[in-house]
Amino acid sequence: MTMTTAAEHPGEACGVFGVYGVDAAAPVIYRGLFSLQHRGQEGAGIVVSNGEEVRSAKGLGLLTEVFGRRSSDELEGTLGIGHVRYSTTGSTRIQNVQPLVVECVDGIWAVAHNGNLVNASRLRRMYQEAGAIFQTSTDSEVLVHLLADPMFRSRPQRVARALSELQGAFSFILMTKNCVMAARDPGGFRPLSIGRLGDGVVFASETCALKQVGASFVRDVAPGELVIADETGLHGSAFAPADAPRSQCVFEMVYFSRPDSIVFGRNVHQVRVQYGMRLAEEHPAEADIVVPVPDSGNSAALGFSRGSGIPLDYGFIRNHYVGRTFIMPEADDRSSGVDMKLSLIPEVVAGKRVVVLDDSIVRGTTARRRVTTLRKAGASEVHVRISCPPTAWPCRYGVDFPTREELIAGMRDIDTIRQYIDADTLGYLSMEGLLSPFDNAGDFCTACFSGTYPVDISGAVGKRALELRTPELNFGSADREAAGA
Ligand code: AMP
Repeated sequence: MTMTTAAEHPGEACGVFGVYGVDAAAPVIYRGLFSLQHRGQEGAGIVVSNGEEVRSAKGLGLLTEVFGRRSSDELEGTLGIGHVRYSTTGSTRIQNVQPLVVECVDGIWAVAHNGNLVNASRLRRMYQEAGAIFQTSTDSEVLVHLLADPMFRSRPQRVARALSELQGAFSFILMTKNCVMAARDPGGFRPLSIGRLGDGVVFASETCALKQVGASFVRDVAPGELVIADETGLHGSAFAPADAPRSQCVFEMVYFSRPDSIVFGRNVHQVRVQYGMRLAEEHPAEADIVVPVPDSGNSAALGFSRGSGIPLDYGFIRNHYVGRTFIMPEADDRSSGVDMKLSLIPEVVAGKRVVVLDDSIVRGTTARRRVTTLRKAGASEVHVRISCPPTAWPCRYGVDFPTREELIAGMRDIDTIRQYIDADTLGYLSMEGLLSPFDNAGDFCTACFSGTYPVDISGAVGKRALELRTPELNFGSADREAAGA
């Protein structure tokens, strides 16, 4: 058993889901979260209410690992919310797995958050100085303190007022024992959609989850809007000025969202195909085949192939049973150079000039490993094409990127990166290309590429800043069940 101190993640690009007014909420939430699993693999939680009692269950790991063997009878209810938690590195702690469930003087509240609040540490300190005790090290917990604060609690439009204190990126789904609410920050950083399921209402991070539960798409929650589903129906109201500048995360289009989702009004796969076609124009290559890095490079590779006329082939095969967690630490020996996730088909690439398509390069480690594998398998040339500009700045709004120093494009020029990953040529999509599929290009946040942060990040904190001062031991997988998984 390995024991490590907890690594903390103040905000995450997670998946959130909520449902109101169905016969059995838990199986619907499970299905919804199942199709949002790509947004987070470190932990999952479901909270339901039957109008009287609120029940919840959560654990570390993939949804199937947490709930797969459980009967939804344990979670009886007609409304509820769920969350899948994301972080790319480090260990995690059960307390941080959402939804957060708290008991206020007026009842139970549960909160599921996707995003990153840039003023969380200031608000947290303010409440701690006033005597509040925090149970988690997530930024999301400040919302429940705001909701419980008599300043807000006793006033009409309490949730809207509490939300308007928050800065940064948030798509929240909240519930009490008899209603479900969804809210998006005024810039609309993260997606959040509304669907209809019979007489009921569904909220989901991405439309692929609406489809999965058989719900029809109604519309997106508007930036700065709070939507409430309760016994009187579905009501939306603005908690921020409607003309606030938009800052939709363009990286949702590049990497984060699922290709079958409609995000910010556009089908993700089709946008990625456009990126690939544009790359073929911006950085053509003399090559024999185009090979995607699955799954993140699939759609852009198709576009590059269409744009260049170079045939597409599948050089890499992905093992779909590798989650980000639960790889035996001893087995995950990166120094061996053998990838647990991707396997190469040498017969496809041997003797060929190969264009490899991936969505992004972060640290450069896996990109380098893939080029090496291709060369070992006999590829005569390797041309790397990336369907976004160089990722040079950390995200403060919910995507877990490392620091500027650790980002390979943070301080280095493209030729230095090319040499590091050992590619014959390297081409990134231009910023113009990135925004070219959209009529509303000014509505996107491009901070990770441009360093221009649309919401002031001076109060934003690094990954470990909200860490509890008393380090907790984080147990290995054998103890996860005992911890509630
Ligand atoms: P590397 O070459 O080591 O920088 O890894 C780049 C790979 O990580 C690409 O294939 C991306 O699909 C993937 N990736 C990009 N951004 C993220 C992120 N925020 N979290 C997890 N994986 C990511």
